[in-house]
Amino acid sequence: QASAEIVAVGTELLLGQIANTNAQWLSETLASIGINVHHHAVVGDNIRRVEEQFRISGRRADIIIVTGGLGPTEDDLTREAFQQMTDMDIVEHGPSMKKIEAFFKKQQAAMTPNNRKQGRVFAGADVMENQTGMAPGMIVTHERKVWVFLPGVPREMKRMTTDRVVPHLQQLIGQDTVIKSTMLRFMGIGESRLEDRLHDLIQQQTNPTIAPLAQNQGVAIRLTAKAASDQEATHLIDQTKATIMEKVGDYFYGVDDATLEESVSSLLERRNQLIGAAESLTGGMFTEKLIAVPGASEICRGGIVCYDTKVKENVLNVSPDLMRQYGTVSKACALAMAENVCSLLDSDIGISFTGVAGPASSEGHPPGTVFIAISEKSGKQLAEKYTFQGDRQTVRNRAVVKGYELLYH
Ligand code: ATP
Ligand code: MG
Repeated sequence: QASAEIVAVGTELLLGQIANTNAQWLSETLASIGINVHHHAVVGDNIRRVEEQFRISGRRADIIIVTGGLGPTEDDLTREAFQQMTDMDIVEHGPSMKKIEAFFKKQQAAMTPNNRKQGRVFAGADVMENQTGMAPGMIVTHERKVWVFLPGVPREMKRMTTDRVVPHLQQLIGQDTVIKSTMLRFMGIGESRLEDRLHDLIQQQTNPTIAPLAQNQGVAIRLTAKAASDQEATHLIDQTKATIMEKVGDYFYGVDDATLEESVSSLLERRNQLIGAAESLTGGMFTEKLIAVPGASEICRGGIVCYDTKVKENVLNVSPDLMRQYGTVSKACALAMAENVCSLLDSDIGISFTGVAGPASSEGHPPGTVFIAISEKSGKQLAEKYTFQGDRQTVRNRAVVKGYELLYH
């Protein structure tokens, strides 16, 4: 079975100025088509070291994916390093060169000689035009190894990979196999508990493979099926999905790119319900996420950021006596906030967030203490206390995710 290696070129990666998200994305993508990645390498913009890395990678991997260093500047050395190693000729790529010239003409900017560099490719390479930028990518076979050269800019790299590299590699690893993969998303259940419940299934199952992954929002399971046809692969995935749903369907909220807020949004839409939020420690983050989902006007009234006690009192009409008696970090205050915001914003559901984001304690509660309440027009109410770990932003983020989880259930 073919193995792959990802080589990211760029000194800024070594300096820690940017994270190697390209390698992460590429690994995920390769895994989804059943290609094993054995190494990630990062090398700075130094021609000798890039060449040295290429030699190492070329020895140990069958497919080498290189990102970065294809641009016009002095420090873009990927082409040169590969040329030193292979003695391949570099030629101008007509269509790319035309595109670069047209770009400079349109911008009415002078084209410097180094801009022409971007339009240069290895003779005999399979050239991949850049739909979202300048420098084209290339697929080159050298000593029976497949080398893929991609731009460093994530957007350009992704587009080229999806459009050209993935189909190319799929063909390479087996003409008759279709590889299909899907993500099932869950919340309200931890990775270990999910894995535990599916343990036997994960052990027995080889096609599709079942891989649990921890995510920002809950956990996900990736199913990857290999089959002779698209139809068969879909069938295999659907079958396994059904078995998984029997075991953990209660925690399921969507597939592939679905987000929790999107799922909540469609749920409210189906139920024809409007929601309003009173946000203290989350400062509007809950409402922001909801409004980012298209169609928000159908389900979201808005939110009130009631950070200070005075705002809870004067805008939300939370009774000062109640706040004195129980504190603002309390079940009672959270419930009053949810109930009042529900009626003030003429909604069907009111949700509230109050707590201690940290780093300091407040009202005698340690940082991470959060109360979330939901109050419905129908009279249904719920208030929960949580203790989240993490710094200020983490606590605030966790509170928002938890709020969506509560609404989804
Ligand atoms: P350009 O034509 O823009 O010069 P390039 O192919 O030469 O593209 P680089 O110069 O290496 O690529 O990178 C361009 C930008 O893309 C970097 O400034 C960085 O923001 C981003 N980038 C590069 N490599 C990575 C990576 N491995 N992960 C995430 N982002 C990256
Ligand atoms: Mg560059």
